[in-house]
Amino acid sequence: MARMAVLPLLEVVATERLTPRMQRVTVGGEPLRALEDVAPAAHVRLLFAEPGAPVVLPTPGSSGLTWRPGATRPYARSMTVRALDRAAGALTIDIALHGDSAAGRWATAARPGDPAGVVGPGGGWTPPEDTREVLLAGDETALPAIAGLLEALPRHAPVHAVVEVEDARDEQDLARPVQWVHRAHGGALVDAVRDRPVVPGTAAWVAGEGHAVKAIREHLRVHRGLGRSHCHAIRYWTRGRSHEDSDATFGAARAEAARRGITLVTTQDVHEMSYELMTGGFPIPVGPPST
Ligand SMILES: Cc1cc2nc3c(=O)[nH]c(=O)nc-3n(C[C@H](O)[C@H](O)[C@H](O)COP(=O)(O)OP(=O)(O)OC[C@H]3O[C@@H](n4cnc5c(N)ncnc54)[C@H](O)[C@@H]3O)c2cc1C
Repeated sequence: MARMAVLPLLEVVATERLTPRMQRVTVGGEPLRALEDVAPAAHVRLLFAEPGAPVVLPTPGSSGLTWRPGATRPYARSMTVRALDRAAGALTIDIALHGDSAAGRWATAARPGDPAGVVGPGGGWTPPEDTREVLLAGDETALPAIAGLLEALPRHAPVHAVVEVEDARDEQDLARPVQWVHRAHGGALVDAVRDRPVVPGTAAWVAGEGHAVKAIREHLRVHRGLGRSHCHAIRYWTRGRSHEDSDATFGAARAEAARRGITLVTTQDVHEMSYELMTGGFPIPVGPPST
């Protein structure tokens, strides 16, 4: 896995409430002009502090990011690059609001001029070349990525997108039609994906709450027969665990893999190993992407 770059300090340039539970924050600065274009669904680590506090930037170290001794670490949250306008030096992030969380507090209070750090960007997804149909599935944390993928996928490519949000007020106008699932009315992403036939040659991109992602991944791999290379399923958050807790399980997964002599190559490898640790067993072994 490539190490992501720590950009020089940026600042908030604009904010906008997109829907009741989604806040857009655009950060800007000269360093963004020097970035290369990113793939759809690419992500960054967004670094932010409590209002009025400075954002201390880390340095990339051999075991992740390190801060100088005694420094107050900022919050660090993975967020999708919803848009990168290199000419304007602007990066747009859509942050899901879900109660009194660090990211939500920061996003709703952010004002132009507030400091923000960015590590990255990295990652992103493009379907394998032999894909005949694309299935996109996720909750509101995956919505920025799904929105970007719907814009980026070729117009002729058959795509079905399923997005779980609280209710109709959190739906967004996207580049293509979406099957919206409303939690408030008993809808669930897992059920919506299970109810849908999957044609041969489907490539799936799935992200959202960890238990839902795990259930969908098992369904697509075991019951719908998708190969590993055609099922990209990533936990974006885990109920009852903060981002810091989730990071710790990734660290534990890497350590456990090293203990067992397994090489974790992709982000998905790390996720599968961390699922195994969290849930005490996962029926699909970590292996090369072709299995
Ligand atoms: C590659 C990647 C890309 C991501 N892109 C985005 C993005 O573009 N926009 C976005 O909003 N999120 C995105 N996420 C998810 C985001 O990083 C997590 O939801 C993160 O935990 C949010 O931080 P927080 O400070 O709001 O909550 P935390 O302090 O991390 O957690 C506090 C509590 O809230 C719960 N929680 C966390 N997220 C949610 C949620 N969405 N709904 C309900 N409860 C929740 C946790 O289980 C915990 O109990 C992405 C994650 C990854 C790995």
